[in-house]
Amino acid sequence: MLFPKEPLASIVKEALQGFAYGRFESQAEVQRFLQSHAAYPKDKKGRVHMQRVTDLLRRELYAGRISSPKHKLYNIEGQHEPLITMTEFVKIQERLKSQSHAPARKDVNKDFPLRGFVGCSCCGGALTAGWTKGRGKYYGYYQCQKKGCDLYGKSIKKADIETNFETLLKGLTPPQGLFKVAAAMFKEFYDERARKRHQEIFEVKKQKTTTERKINQLLERIVETDNAAVIQAYEGKIQNLENERIVLEEKIANCGKKLPSFEESSRTALKFLENPYKLWAGEVLEDRQDILKLCFTDKLIYDKKEGYRTAPKSLPFKVLEGFDESMSCMVPKAGLEPARLTPLPPQDSVSTNSTTWAKNNY
Ligand SMILES: [Zn+2]
Repeated sequence: MLFPKEPLASIVKEALQGFAYGRFESQAEVQRFLQSHAAYPKDKKGRVHMQRVTDLLRRELYAGRISSPKHKLYNIEGQHEPLITMTEFVKIQERLKSQSHAPARKDVNKDFPLRGFVGCSCCGGALTAGWTKGRGKYYGYYQCQKKGCDLYGKSIKKADIETNFETLLKGLTPPQGLFKVAAAMFKEFYDERARKRHQEIFEVKKQKTTTERKINQLLERIVETDNAAVIQAYEGKIQNLENERIVLEEKIANCGKKLPSFEESSRTALKFLENPYKLWAGEVLEDRQDILKLCFTDKLIYDKKEGYRTAPKSLPFKVLEGFDESMSCMVPKAGLEPARLTPLPPQDSVSTNSTTWAKNNY
């Protein structure tokens, strides 16, 4: 019988969920996360091997399941306590498939929080960073090291690039009044979602019946054939369907549970939206990495003379900005109805996505 062993179980759980939900974009980031925990076992050279990370992400044991390909047994429900849900496990597998060639993001470290995230104004390549010693003192700098670039080796002061970034981040803070309107809208979406849950459960049950029927059909075909290759193909399909069925079962079980209150489930997200700079100023490396990923959709480009080029803001901030510009026509006097807000923000991309964004995030 297996039991979660602390503190390892919590570390592994955080790594798996972090990858499932995109907090870690690549396997390399999961590797760095594990590496940073003293309690996580390392190899002789003191490192966590990449293959270990891949194995970890693929083990369904952590989702409470046991498989033995040797005995042709798949997805047997284990007796042990799972660390993650099957839904999370499937998410991880999908992400592994989709990003097999995604480049690992550059390393970020405490001294240079923007390293790998800010691009060169000439070639667009990620700036590297380091310390240099001059007149008995150390100076931090960022620079482009792409061969052939006109700005190759030209240093930008660490203080400049980082102070300007803080100004940029402060600029993302929505005005108080606007923020309150947005928060009230999120609450509307949340309530709407809670009301629709019983419809959802009906749909999910239907899907589950369909999946089970497909599994049974494939099982019948396996019985009828002697061809080993065909049997193997069917088995592969059954395994995928079986995963699907377990995920649907989890959904059904979750539909029966009481939702956490709006305040509970949105506290952290709203706190972040209200003032991203505050979180950055806390100087926690993980928070800072989260900020970079959550506030911007792409690398920022920095020019030594002109500062940051227009920042590619992430959807939540684009939406808030859109609200700001059209606030007067967006807030109906009678109250806040999400349905009426959809067509109004100025840019098309924002208007169609704002509703979806809020829905997807609850
Ligand atoms: Zn360059």
